[in-house]
Order: sequence, then structure tokens, then C-alpha cells
Amino acid sequence: MHILVSGAGVAGLSAAINLGRRGNQVTLIELAPEIRTSGTPIDIRGEALVIAGEMGLRGRMEEKRAHVTDRIKYVDENGGFLADVPFTDANDSPDDLEITREDLSEILTSALAETGTEIRFGESVEALTDDGDGVDVQFTSGRTERFDLVLGADGLHSKVRAVVFGPERDYLRHLGAYIGGVELPPSCHPGEYNLMYSFPGHSAGIMAYDGKVRGGFIFGGAPIDYDHHDVEAQKKIVADAFAGVTAWRVPELLQAVREDNGTFYFDSVSQIHLSGWHRGRVALVGDAAHCSALLSGRGTSLALTGTYYLAEELERAKGDHRIAFARYESRQRPSVDFAQQSVTQGEALFLSGQ
Ligand SMILES: Cc1cc2nc3c(=O)[nH]c(=O)nc-3n(C[C@H](O)[C@H](O)[C@H](O)COP(=O)(O)OP(=O)(O)OC[C@H]3O[C@@H](n4cnc5c(N)ncnc54)[C@H](O)[C@@H]3O)c2cc1C
Repeated sequence: MHILVSGAGVAGLSAAINLGRRGNQVTLIELAPEIRTSGTPIDIRGEALVIAGEMGLRGRMEEKRAHVTDRIKYVDENGGFLADVPFTDANDSPDDLEITREDLSEILTSALAETGTEIRFGESVEALTDDGDGVDVQFTSGRTERFDLVLGADGLHSKVRAVVFGPERDYLRHLGAYIGGVELPPSCHPGEYNLMYSFPGHSAGIMAYDGKVRGGFIFGGAPIDYDHHDVEAQKKIVADAFAGVTAWRVPELLQAVREDNGTFYFDSVSQIHLSGWHRGRVALVGDAAHCSALLSGRGTSLALTGTYYLAEELERAKGDHRIAFARYESRQRPSVDFAQQSVTQGEALFLSGQ
């Protein structure tokens, strides 16, 4: 089948690998000019570790395992010691694998290259028409093309979902917080522990792993209306949330945000709740379908499992997308429900300011 995958994050890359390996002709599009690799290290856990093994990628992932200290030292406004707490969440497997987004993307991208899949950067879906026999896609570049199936792997603010299922506000559940992160120079290394300075509704921190240092911000707040692709607007939201804060190293972190050129990441802590992840010949995978929120620590694992199930079920159903999409959803739902119910712990840890 000729399948369009929109979005080259973990879900899109993994979908393209699994579908391409099963003999489908995949076209992968990505809005950004290149694969986006920044972000804090992410966890691969539970069934996703098994899937990584099935995909033949677990060994490479183990080799790139990131070493992140699992303790946070809370400090006061002068950097003085307040408390030392474990930074762990409810594990579902003892052998969770932590890896940087950069290394994971690289592993997936090189596995994808072996399938000969084409990636088109700077491209997005503009409109879709599903006539039952195929999907006509109009791209923002002006190009039009027909596909057998379309997968929306374009994240929390999915364009495919907006076009086919309706506006984001109908599906997005804002959990009352925002997260920002930026890479820092090695000279900002926090030492033995990750550091966190908190005051009610806000946290700012510095974490280190394998020679990299990253600053982060978390703050509470009602939904903000902003352009999800406008990085300068996102930087301003973070600056406004911490405006006037001179305590600890907050000014230094804000300066790093202002001066950053490409490693800044920002989004709301939100979930996507849809009663069904497919409509006709279009299906959603990863955060586009079921974002479990940044603090769940399970989004990447779910992106890996769901895309593997979908490709496997499509092969089993001999290309009958109705059967395959329904089976994909029933296999993936229980883990999504579990992940979506598990986020409150993280929020309490970072936003209480205790
Ligand atoms: C740059 C970046 C940094 C991240 N940092 C963290 C982090 O620090 N901590 C954390 O917990 N999670 C982070 N995440 C989210 C985490 O990677 C995902 O929750 C999880 O891996 C599920 O991945 P996904 O592929 O479904 O979504 P995403 O990782 O969000 O990938 C979606 C992809 O689709 C692309 N895209 C968006 N709109 C369009 C469009 N209209 N057309 C085509 N492509 C489009 C995006 O550029 C992106 O590459 C980050 C995501 C990104 C993109």
C-alpha cells in the first residue's frame, strides 16, 4: 500500500519503519526542516522494550542508554540545600531504558534509511479527501497526491487530527501546567544531583546526563492561546511566567532561553482523549491519538507500541484497514488508559512548591 505518514517524531519514524519493512511504500513528511532531536532523555519501558527487541533495535538502544541521576536536590533561593527526593515514577518494568531523544531519533532514522523511505521536510498536510477507495491529500507546498492510507503522527497539536476529526479544543485536556526546556553549556553542570528551585506553582531546574546539561521550567496556568510553531512566542511565555524572579539561577536559565538557537522545547502538559483513533482510511498514532502528557513518562513507549501494532495488524488483515485499525486500537487502548491515569504524581512534585 502507498501510505502517507505525517510527522517524523518517534511515532512517525517508527510507523514508517514498521510499515516499510512489511512491503508498504511509505511517504513520510515532517514540518520542520530536519528531524527534531532536542528534549530531555525519555524512557522506554514495559511492552515498548519488547517491541524495540522485535524491531531489532533494542541492542542499539541499550548501547546508547543515558545515565541520568534519579535524585533531585531541592534548593532555596540562594542554592542552599532543602531536600533530596527520588525522581522516579511508577515503573512498570525493572529494566526501563532511558535514552536521549537525539540518540533514539538517530537509531530510528538509520533503521528507516534501510527501508528506502522518502522523508520530505518542510511539508504538511493542508487538506484530505477520503472517498472510500483512497485519500487525496493536498499539501501546504501546493502538491497533491493520492494515498491508500494516511497516518497522523504529528504530535499533540496534530494537523491531520484537526483536518479529519475536528478542532483540538474538542480533544485536548489541559492539565494546568506548561513545560519548557533548553540546552545549557557544560559550565552550568549541576554537580552530583539534578537541582530544582521551586516556589508555589513554579519550578526551575538543571539536569545533567552523559556530558549534556539541560535547564527546565515547569509552571501552572490556564490554557494560553499561542502559535505552537512560533518559538519566539513560546520563549516569551516562559519569560513572562518567571518575570522578576531573581532567585537561585533563574536569570541564568532565562538568558539561555533567550539566546538559544534550536534546542528550546515548550508545550503544555495536556492529554488527548478521542473515543476512536481512526476514521475511514485515516488513523492517528502517538501523541496525535492519545498524548498522555509530558509528565507521564510514557509517550515515547506508547508511540513505539502503537505503531508496531498498527503495522502488524495491517499485515495480518492483508491490508484491510477497517480490521487492522480496530485491532490496533483495541491492543493499544489499555496501555494508553493506564498512562493517562498516571500523571498526577509528577504535577504534585513540581508544582506544589513545598
Ligand atoms: C523537539 C521535541 C522535544 C521534545 N522534548 C520532550 C521532553 O523533553 N520531554 C518529554 O517528555 N517529551 C518531549 N517531547 C515529546 C515526546 O517526544 C513525545 O511525547 C513522544 O515521543 C511521542 O512522540 P510523537 O511522535 O507522537 O510526537 P512528537 O514527538 O511531538 O512528534 C511529532 C512530529 O510531528 C511534527 N509535526 C508537527 N506538526 C506537523 C505537521 N503539520 N506536518 C508534519 N509534521 C508535523 C513535529 O515537528 C514532530 O517532529 C518532545 C517532542 C519534540 C518534537
